[in-house]
Amino acid sequence: MKSSDFLISTVKEAPNDAQIISHQLMIRAGLISKLASGLYSYLPIGLKIIQKVEKIVREEMNKSKALELLMPIAHPAELWQESKRWEEYGPELLRFKDRHDRDFCFGPTHEEVITNIAKQYLRSYKQLPINFYQIQTKFRDEIRPRFGVMRSREFIMKDAYSFHIDEKSLDETYKVMYQTYCNIFDRIGFNYRAVLADSGAIGGESSHEFHVLADSGEDAICFSDSSDFSANIERTETLPQGEPNAPSKNLELIETPGVKTIADVCNLLNVKPTSSIKTLIVESEDDSLIALVLRGDHELNEVKASKIQGIKQPLQMTDEEKVLKKLGCSFGSIGVVNLNIPIIVDYSAACMSDFVCGANEDDKHYIGVNWGRDTKDIIASDLRNVVSGDPSPDGKGKIEIKRGIEVGHIFQLGTKYSDSMNANVIGEDGRAVNMNMGCYGIGVTRIIAASIEQSHDDRGIIFPEAIAPFELVIVPINYNKSSRVQELANQLYQDCQEKNIDVLLDDRKERPGIMFADSELLGIPHRFVLSDTHADNGKIEYKSRKSSDKIEVDYKEAVSFILDQFD
Ligand code: ATP
Ligand code: MG
Repeated sequence: MKSSDFLISTVKEAPNDAQIISHQLMIRAGLISKLASGLYSYLPIGLKIIQKVEKIVREEMNKSKALELLMPIAHPAELWQESKRWEEYGPELLRFKDRHDRDFCFGPTHEEVITNIAKQYLRSYKQLPINFYQIQTKFRDEIRPRFGVMRSREFIMKDAYSFHIDEKSLDETYKVMYQTYCNIFDRIGFNYRAVLADSGAIGGESSHEFHVLADSGEDAICFSDSSDFSANIERTETLPQGEPNAPSKNLELIETPGVKTIADVCNLLNVKPTSSIKTLIVESEDDSLIALVLRGDHELNEVKASKIQGIKQPLQMTDEEKVLKKLGCSFGSIGVVNLNIPIIVDYSAACMSDFVCGANEDDKHYIGVNWGRDTKDIIASDLRNVVSGDPSPDGKGKIEIKRGIEVGHIFQLGTKYSDSMNANVIGEDGRAVNMNMGCYGIGVTRIIAASIEQSHDDRGIIFPEAIAPFELVIVPINYNKSSRVQELANQLYQDCQEKNIDVLLDDRKERPGIMFADSELLGIPHRFVLSDTHADNGKIEYKSRKSSDKIEVDYKEAVSFILDQFD
C-alpha cells in the first residue's frame, strides 16, 4: 500500500474521556472514530488490524474443525422468551419493535439462535459432535461503556457453540477449544493466563476465562503463590475462619453525630476498620429484605452474594428510601443489633468479637458488639472478594492478585438451552436425547486494545507483526524531489510485495519527522529509511519499532534482511 492511496488518519490529541492508554492511542493513531457512547467506526487502518486478528482466529478455529456460519444481529423476542432470558437478561439486552409492533432485540450473544438452528438441522447422534462459529457484531447496552473498544456497546466477537450427545464428548471439545484459544493468543503474542471462572448469567458448570495481564485490566485474577491455582475473583473462595473470641466488652450505644462512612466512624472512635463491620441490605426472593455483613475493610462480591439461597436474582441493593422506611435509618447507620431481618455474615466478619457497627438510628453507633449475645442468629457464608495474602482455596499457599483484561471465555453449558428450547437428537438406542452444549467467545475488537495495553511506549503503539496494520514501512526522504530515491523506494516496495510482505510506502509530501512519528504511533514493527546519502553508499537504514538502534543494511540485501527480522 502507498500512503497516497490510503488514509493515514492520525490525530494530535486524544479526547478527555480516553482514560487508558490503549483508548488514547487507538484514537490518536486513527484506528477508530467515536460515533456515540460505546459506538465506534473502524477506520481503514483499524479495520486492517481487525482483519488480521480475524484471520488468526479463523485459521485456528478451522483447524479445530469448527464450522463457520453467520447469524443475524436482530433476534425475535419469541426465541428469548423460550429460553426465559427475555426476562432474565436485564437492560444490557437492547429491545426494539418492528413496524408490525413485534418485539425484537439486538443479539448480545447467540445461544438462542444457534440452538434454534441445531434443533432444525441436527437429528441424529451421528451428526455429533459439531461446533459452529461466527465472527459477528454484538450489541450489549453496557451500563458503563468505557475505555474505547475495550468495553463498548457494539463490538465484534467470535462466538462458537458446540453440540454433543453426552458430557464426555462436551468435555473433549472443551479441551480442544482450550488449546485452540492458547494457539490463538500465542500467535497474537499475548502474555496471558487461563483462569477458572464463574459461568455467570449464561449458566452451566465449567468455565475458563483467558486474561491478558495488564495493570489497566478491569478484572482481578487470583493466583496461589505455591500452586497452579488460578481463578477470577468471583471463583476464588474464602474459607471459614473459626469461632469468635468470647466477648470482653459490654454493648454500649454512643453518639456519632454526622458520621456516615466506615472511615469516619473509625477516625472518631480511634479503631481500625478491621474492628468494624458494614451492613448492606439487599432484596430477597419474597420481596422482603436480607442483611449482608462484611468486615469494615472488605468488599462485597456480588456474584457470590447472588448465589445465596433466598436472595433475589439478579442481586439488587435496596434503595435508601426503603431502608429508611423499613429500618428507620439511612445507609451509613445500619447495624446488626435489633435487626429483625435475616443476617448473612461473611466468614471474616463472623469470627469477630467486640466490634463497632451502626445502631439503626442516625448519628449513633454501638461499640462492644458480639454475635449471639447482642444479635439474632446469623448465617456465616463466603460473601467477599479475596484480598492478597488470603489463604489459597486449594489449601496451598497464599493468594496474589493481578489485573487482567478478559479476551476470551469458554463455558460448558450442559443442557440448559436444549432443555428450555427442546433441542434433541435421536440417540444410539433410538430415544431422543437433549444435546449437551458448550460455548466459546473471543472479543476480537477488545484484543486490539489489550494488545496495545500490553505493548506501547511514549511514542505510540508497538504492535507484534501478527496483527500490525503493516509489517514494514518504507520512509523515503525527498521521494517527491529525488528521482533516484523514488526509483529505489519503488523498487524495494515492489520486491517486498513480491515476497508477500505487508508493506507501506510513505510517499506523502510530509516532513520526515512527521512520517517517522506516524509510523511509530501506528506501531509498525519494522522501518526502512532511504535517502540520497544512503543511495550514494548503496545502503538503507533499518530500525525496529522495539529498539532505538539504527542499522545500515546493503540496499541489495534489504528484502532478505527484513524477512530474517520477522518472528
Ligand atoms: P465482561 O465480564 O468483560 O463483561 P463477559 O463475561 O460479559 O465479559 P462474554 O459474554 O463471555 O463476556 O463475551 C465473550 C468475550 O467478548 C469476552 O471475553 C470479551 O473479550 C468480549 N466482550 C464482552 N463484552 C464486551 C464489550 N462490552 N466490549 C468489547 N468486548 C466485549
Ligand atoms: Mg459483560
